[in-house]
Amino acid sequence: MRKKIIAGNWKMNCTPAQAEALCRKLLPLCEGAQADVVFCVPSVDIPAVTKVLAGSSIAVGAQNMYFEEKGAFTGEISADMLLELGVKYVIFGHSERREYFGETDEMVNRKVKKALSVGLLPIVCCGETLAQREAGIAVEWIRMQVKLALQGICAQDAEKITIAYEPIWAIGTGKTATAQQAQEICGAIRQVLSEIYDQEAAQTMRIQYGGSVNGKNAAELFAMPDIDGGLVGGASLKEEFAVIAHSE
Ligand code: PEP
Repeated sequence: MRKKIIAGNWKMNCTPAQAEALCRKLLPLCEGAQADVVFCVPSVDIPAVTKVLAGSSIAVGAQNMYFEEKGAFTGEISADMLLELGVKYVIFGHSERREYFGETDEMVNRKVKKALSVGLLPIVCCGETLAQREAGIAVEWIRMQVKLALQGICAQDAEKITIAYEPIWAIGTGKTATAQQAQEICGAIRQVLSEIYDQEAAQTMRIQYGGSVNGKNAAELFAMPDIDGGLVGGASLKEEFAVIAHSE
């Protein structure tokens, strides 16, 4: 039985003081959730957030990380830096990073490998555009993204990875995939995982849905057989996130 994972993606919101205040508000509301709950916060907010969450059941996640060890990579943040701050999860390949910051499948793969090498747990995003969905190539596109992200990663390591299916047309738009649409793709992701690895690994790995998840639609989405929780953007900054964290 896979444990659900509900992660909030705060994106580029909250100064450290605001992050601390939001954490203090959300922490008591989210504690007691059956799922693994993660706050993926801006890097500069990590110290403030880890301080508030210390000793709680809620984990801290980052939204990005570079694959090199250290050195002349101005503006980047290394795996060791995140680890030392107490970060547990890192999001990779979010569609906003792919679109605005040129993150390629190859970079995602290298980042995932680096994170795993130090014990960080990757959340790997994939998802199709509306044009790809309408052209009937969503499943093929996502199969390819998943295969490229996992290239050269063994089953034992892959089991530490969460895949987040996030249809781009549903992110921040208020348009949620129906539970059936989300299940169809998450089922296809589990199928490709069983082809890359085996049934055991595919049944162990967690697959989230993301895209306008809210307090009203979360329970129906998370009840689907291949949906093991959610990656939540907009609603993760509100008290509503606690409703989502308790939805299963
Ligand atoms: C996201 O940013 O990962 C996301 C799913 O955003 P939203 O919930 O706002 O659609």
